[in-house]
Amino acid sequence: MFRLYIAALLATTLTSTAPSREVAVTIDDLPTASVLGNDLQAAQQTTATLLAALTRNGIPAIGFVNESKLRTDGQTDPRRVALLGQWLDAGFELGNHTFSHVDFHSTPLDEYEREVLDGEEVTKRLLQEHGKRIRYFRHPLLHAGRSASERQRFEGFLKQHGYTVAPITIDNYDYVFAAAYDRAGARPDAAAQKAIADAYISYMEAVTAYYEQQSIAIVGREVRQTLLIHASALNASTLDRLASMFRARGYRFISLDRALEDPAYRHRDGYYGPAGITWLHRWAIADGKPGTIFKGEPDVPAWVEQASR
Ligand SMILES: [Zn+2]
Repeated sequence: MFRLYIAALLATTLTSTAPSREVAVTIDDLPTASVLGNDLQAAQQTTATLLAALTRNGIPAIGFVNESKLRTDGQTDPRRVALLGQWLDAGFELGNHTFSHVDFHSTPLDEYEREVLDGEEVTKRLLQEHGKRIRYFRHPLLHAGRSASERQRFEGFLKQHGYTVAPITIDNYDYVFAAAYDRAGARPDAAAQKAIADAYISYMEAVTAYYEQQSIAIVGREVRQTLLIHASALNASTLDRLASMFRARGYRFISLDRALEDPAYRHRDGYYGPAGITWLHRWAIADGKPGTIFKGEPDVPAWVEQASR
């Protein structure tokens, strides 16, 4: 009887931990993002903690850089450039997120393109020093253009400069939790930080479950997901828990390259509205799917929203 129980337990364990789902982790607003500003010491701490956790969990992440954040008093600060060097030394990839996080929807195209070129100077050189080249572009705010002609012109520009757009499927409000977490840390209030971290992990699990369902509803299967999170103190300190949550749902961590090999990503982006939305919904809109299938996205708890301000 006991042996049977063990065998049954083993069988469930084997089936439930066999990874069948895949997710690429993409991290925006490097070197770091905080509502409290661009303090060097905090940035160093966040970077070290985040990179250690990514390494520990075997996550082949890519970080998207805003090079304006490398400046101190208008000058490129080698101590901030060193933070990006740490990403590359640890074997991670870097991409371009424009120089100063400009909005495609309120910036003239020429200026937006100049922001891409201004935003690659340091990153390109660092990548070269590591035998790599800059390959991916992530739109700030996920604003990907208000018209077909503008998007087409910009994508031609990206191609000419060797870039591929880095889409995301798992969109979320991690930055709202991160802001609340930073403000609690500044008071300092460790109990509040713990409560925010707990709420964040629950929220992210609900969000992940939602996008698994959305993927089935829109694509007919679970695609290789691409997660967007930010380079915040919250993600640095909760990454082990976030990674455990994904593993428990049967995920393994893959590179952005591998994720984008999924043919789902060849789907047309049919959205030209004002919002920054997941590519899953862009594909659904391209197919003329009814808006009702988007229902059920988990909300940020009101108390977290309040604490973020
Ligand atoms: Zn961003």
